[in-house]
Amino acid sequence: MPKWEDNLRQVTPYVPGAQPQSKNVIKLNTNENPYPPSPKVVKAIQEMDLETAMRKYPDPTSGDLVHALENYHGLDEGQIFVGTGSDDVLSIAFLTFFNSDRPIIFPDVTYSFYPVWAQVYGIPYREIPLDESFRILPEDYGWIDPENRASAIDEGGDIPENGGVVIANPNAPTGISLKRGYVEQIIAANPDVIVIVDEAYIDYSRESVLPLLHDYDNLVIVRTFSKSRAMAGMRIGYAMSSPRLIRAMNDVAQSINSYTMSATTLKAGVASIEDDEYFRARIEDVRKTRARTIVELKKRFFNVLPSSTNFVFASPSRVKCETLFEELCARNIFVRHFNGERIRDYLRITIGTDREMDALFAAIDEIQG
Ligand SMILES: *Cc1c(COP(=O)(O)O)cnc(C)c1O
Repeated sequence: MPKWEDNLRQVTPYVPGAQPQSKNVIKLNTNENPYPPSPKVVKAIQEMDLETAMRKYPDPTSGDLVHALENYHGLDEGQIFVGTGSDDVLSIAFLTFFNSDRPIIFPDVTYSFYPVWAQVYGIPYREIPLDESFRILPEDYGWIDPENRASAIDEGGDIPENGGVVIANPNAPTGISLKRGYVEQIIAANPDVIVIVDEAYIDYSRESVLPLLHDYDNLVIVRTFSKSRAMAGMRIGYAMSSPRLIRAMNDVAQSINSYTMSATTLKAGVASIEDDEYFRARIEDVRKTRARTIVELKKRFFNVLPSSTNFVFASPSRVKCETLFEELCARNIFVRHFNGERIRDYLRITIGTDREMDALFAAIDEIQG
């Protein structure tokens, strides 16, 4: 074995959902939006001139997009960090905030990229099991109910000190959302470390923790344009926090790469923010189809978890999960299956158009006989 083998950084990478290149598939496997982005986004891209789009470097501060997001969310200057997809934003956040010997904590069933970043950056981590109903319990993250303090301590509630907390809310791949008050308990119980709340699916849910930014200096919220804004291909994500923490993220990001967002991406992002009416309407479309999907899957004997996202996490009872997954694949319908111990009986199914979902139901009927 060559000596340099010892010096290789060896990691097991995150495996994203398949991106079949054929146009002939019903793609319900990576939670993309079934509808196109706003026509204003398309127009903004078409109107880009070569000079700006290609010859010159883009604005290293991503100023236009940052300001559009500050205005949209009613934040002050310096409260937005932007990156190439929320994967990039989360990765920079891990690198910036999790710099201690204590393990960071996140649920055992959640976005499977979290342990990968922890590994590549050498951050120790511990997975906290969700309860039997796949819920995140604030008690498991250090929260002690004041009314119940005595009993919590009696049970030996010695939750080890942690180096940070990561919560996806709504959680993925379960789709379950925690009400704001409960996320607040987790943030309040961990004042000495940074709590990252990954709100990739919040637009399909109800209760963002955004109003809590004023009250907690340890809160970082991460969002993406990939799902609700139908712009996965553009790679836009952002973080919202205090100017102090955003500055720390920018310092780390700019120590790796000064120019992350292309000029075209920045223009498209601003155009999306400016067309709120279109954005809201498409979210409603997905919500309606989601309600229908849950009813139709239950009719077909699936156990379906409550969903606050643009996907459902559902377990068939009439046919083995793997069989269904493969039979759907054979019919060019792609859904996502994870092999984790607790979730291998579930499929994560993205909400597509009504027509796409009808094709899914018909295929299930055919498979289940
Ligand atoms: C999709 C997703 C992301 C990453 O999205 P980007 O395309 O990188 O912006 C992050 N977190 C969760 C929970 C997701 O589902």
